[in-house]
Amino acid sequence: MKKEEKICEHCQQNFSISEEELILYKKVEIELPTLCFFCRIKLHLSFWMFGKFRKGKSDLSGESLITVLPEKTRYPIFTLTEWHSDKWNALDYGIDYNPDISFLKQLQNLQEKIPHPHQNGSKNTNCDWCDDVWNSKNCYLSRSMEECEDLFYSYRNLWVKNSIDVVICFHSEKCYDCGDCHNSYKLFYSRHSRDCINSYFLYDCRNCQNCFMCWNLRNKSYCIENVQYSREEYDKKIKSFQLGSYNSIQNYKKHFEEIAQKEAVHRQNFNFKNYNSDGDYLFDCKNCHNCNTINESEDSYNCIRGMRHKSDIDANGSWYSELIGNCSGCVNAYALKYSTWSSSRYSEYLDLCLECEYCFGCVGLKKKKFCILNKQYTKEEYESLRDKIIADMRKRKEYGKFLPYSMSTGPFNFSTSFLYFPETKKEDILKLGGYWEDINESHIEGMPTSELPDDIKDITDDIITQALICPETGWRFNIAENELIFYQANNIPLPRYHFDVRTKNQLKYLTVLKSYPYKCFYCEKDIMAYYLPEWNYQKIACEECYKQNIA
Ligand SMILES: [Zn+2]
Ligand SMILES: [Zn+2]
Repeated sequence: MKKEEKICEHCQQNFSISEEELILYKKVEIELPTLCFFCRIKLHLSFWMFGKFRKGKSDLSGESLITVLPEKTRYPIFTLTEWHSDKWNALDYGIDYNPDISFLKQLQNLQEKIPHPHQNGSKNTNCDWCDDVWNSKNCYLSRSMEECEDLFYSYRNLWVKNSIDVVICFHSEKCYDCGDCHNSYKLFYSRHSRDCINSYFLYDCRNCQNCFMCWNLRNKSYCIENVQYSREEYDKKIKSFQLGSYNSIQNYKKHFEEIAQKEAVHRQNFNFKNYNSDGDYLFDCKNCHNCNTINESEDSYNCIRGMRHKSDIDANGSWYSELIGNCSGCVNAYALKYSTWSSSRYSEYLDLCLECEYCFGCVGLKKKKFCILNKQYTKEEYESLRDKIIADMRKRKEYGKFLPYSMSTGPFNFSTSFLYFPETKKEDILKLGGYWEDINESHIEGMPTSELPDDIKDITDDIITQALICPETGWRFNIAENELIFYQANNIPLPRYHFDVRTKNQLKYLTVLKSYPYKCFYCEKDIMAYYLPEWNYQKIACEECYKQNIA
């Protein structure tokens, strides 16, 4: 097989498919992509909501619920429990295949009748104001987490407790405003740090305690700006820093970004313990290429935000899957193609189907076999109708493409895709058949955060009854009681922006999917690294030089 050159149907850019990719496409038995790598991810992640939390009602029982799904949906919403119950049967919605109409149009018509669960997740206690939440307890206004406890306003965390405003963190406790930090305790305003305690503004530090505004440090205590102090001097200085003041924290944040630009040495990537793999944020991977934010995976290509991939290609937001291709949000899947939110086997074009086998173009089915458009067939009927549909789809140039934007879960600007592609324009998404929602909340009343006292020590407890207005979005937010206790105990000023704005600001450093050419700061070798050129990082090091100089 020889490398193929293609033009992306969405962005019209050239892209190529490598020999290795061609081999895997063949093994997974999917059609070659018609979209470039970025447009594939963009489409896939538009099926994964990062919506604004709102109260609503079940379309089945009228029971109240809290969801990130939009107010105006193309489909009914049931509570998660109702959705999993036998109070409804997805086969009741089954339709006959009509060869005169596009199959994907028929699938969309079916999809719009099938209820959608209000929340994603299972086995949680007191996590109503959350989404994409698994085995967690007492979390509030947070998304995408597993085995977390007492988290506020956080995103994509594993095994994190008692923290606020943390994104992509692991095994940490009592942290605030951190991104990509691991095994840390009482770490504040930090990025890319591990095994750190009682520290502030750390950038790529390891095993540090009681440090402030440091970078690339290893095994240190009582350092400020990478200068060693005695314990007494350090304590004295920290006391003088006015950490409870919002204005002084803003100045420290500015300084922190200047340090990232001019002083800190940046790793070429954040890959750990991998074999023959490339991409960024890979952990414990073998033969994985062009992947991002995945762990414990092997022999996969072009996958982001996943875990335990095996021989997968173009599978995003997918966990525990094997031989799947062109899928989004599929967990526990095997030999699944062109599907979303499904844990099924040997099937194609599924949405929200659980534990199904040999199904084609179905929505919301559980434990079914040989179904097409939610109708039950015999094995023989299934096989012949499936083959006919595939032939018809080929004639219409539909077969092998992922579900279109018109079938995505909600407005693009409230999806996970917008976190990775924040520059996307409304008109471009509408042109592709997708959705967009402009929320105007200027009518909402509350206190502008500019009127808040600067220092946390001047905030009175009745602030928890006050609606605050975000200066960027005009959205209302509140300070919860336990949140205020956390800020007071840790001398942290109240936030001024809505929590979704805060999450997005943190994520912009952790969601770069494209690598850019740089020269290693030490050896001047040409390298590719996942830092946006406009961040202006001066010291980016190749893997070898980073190991030698920073370790
Ligand atoms: Zn493209
Ligand atoms: Zn180098």
